[in-house]
Amino acid sequence: MNCTRCGKEVETILEQEKLCKQCFLENIEHRAKKTLKQFSLTKGNKILILDDASKEAVVSDYLFRKITSPIPLSIETKKKDNIDLEKEQKNYAAVVVPWDLDDETASFIDTMINNKNIEPTKTIKLLQNIYDREARIYADLNNFTYTEHEKTKVHKALETMEQGHPGIQISMLNAIKKFKNNKT
Ligand SMILES: [Zn+2]
Repeated sequence: MNCTRCGKEVETILEQEKLCKQCFLENIEHRAKKTLKQFSLTKGNKILILDDASKEAVVSDYLFRKITSPIPLSIETKKKDNIDLEKEQKNYAAVVVPWDLDDETASFIDTMINNKNIEPTKTIKLLQNIYDREARIYADLNNFTYTEHEKTKVHKALETMEQGHPGIQISMLNAIKKFKNNKT
């Protein structure tokens, strides 16, 4: 089998992605970097990373520290259950939340159905363009220990849609971004 990105012949290829391990890891990191570019973090910024032991949390924590390593930031990690996010947010330049693409699309649908408010800004969803499935592969390739978020009905429905229409959630994400920009 050959990797569709680097063309190298490899023994094991990541099924759906058709990428070798190295290219997969690089691809995820590149996409997280792209997301982080929307935030202008500067030297000395105080950052809070929310930890709920999920794969989204461990992968976000790992990637955030890796990508921002050239910038001297003041990074703290706190257990998600123990804090009042609204209050805490005021003390930080940004908060990194355990959140992936599936969470983004599912929560948007949930917001529409239940007429809830759009979530506050200043949160960094580092994995917002990375699928739940991809976050799991990334965590496994790095031998991270993690738990799984409980899946809602909307999450499961989206997974089924994705199987029939690969990439549909990326299209949704782009539509969500447009929608949010028009709103503000
Ligand atoms: Zn490759």
